[in-house]
Amino acid sequence: MDRTATSARLRVGGFEPLTTVDWEGRLSAVVFLQGCPWRCRYCHNSELAPLTAPGMRPWAEIYEDLQARRGFIDAVVFSGGEPTLQSDLPLAMREAAELGFEVALHTNGFDPDALRRALDSGAVDYVALDVKAPFEEYELITQIPNSGLAARRSVRVLLDSGVDHELRTTYHPALLSKDHLRQIAAEVAEMGAARWIIQLFRPEGCPVRWLRESILLPAEVPPALRSELSELIDEFGVRGDLED
Ligand code: SF4
Repeated sequence: MDRTATSARLRVGGFEPLTTVDWEGRLSAVVFLQGCPWRCRYCHNSELAPLTAPGMRPWAEIYEDLQARRGFIDAVVFSGGEPTLQSDLPLAMREAAELGFEVALHTNGFDPDALRRALDSGAVDYVALDVKAPFEEYELITQIPNSGLAARRSVRVLLDSGVDHELRTTYHPALLSKDHLRQIAAEVAEMGAARWIIQLFRPEGCPVRWLRESILLPAEVPPALRSELSELIDEFGVRGDLED
């Protein structure tokens, strides 16, 4: 396949050749795509926000790395930044699938039509979709007005696609209250989500000083609240506990 005419335009801001944490149960490589339209207050990847940046690698080079890793890893995760920002994503995912890898997509859901095109590629086995806040209050996290409207449509697109998924919410108690968590659970449950995971904010690596300093240990979700939330969603979990 001539990648100079297709996915060669893909802008790759980073590559992790082996991880066990980005897709549970899989040995994966992660391709971090450049560009993100949102400005989440806790973003650990702000260097990926611009669509162009020094240090980007051509997809053709990443593809060769992946070819060499066949037999050693199970899967390729496309993450970001926001991967659906780039129109060549479906082609690149298909190329990864054609190499024999399972393919996962991590997305913020900012563009439901782009998510649909990614899913229509037929290459995606698993999607992790962020739910940043109750849909009416997304700006609290993303700093972008009305961003929750698009995110809600993306959740609908994903659930209607039947592709295996998790919805996930990063929890910092200075940004989201426990009532916000209850509201998110109710909203995604009402939409038919099968799996929702709270990811506890960890201060290590966060570039935002006040967020780091306002929390010395990972956030907690008290047991009573966990059982309340697990009543709403078939599969509910909390990721990032100290014992994890
Ligand atoms: S969507 Fe992800 S990459 Fe984009 S600003 Fe938010 S946390 Fe950062």
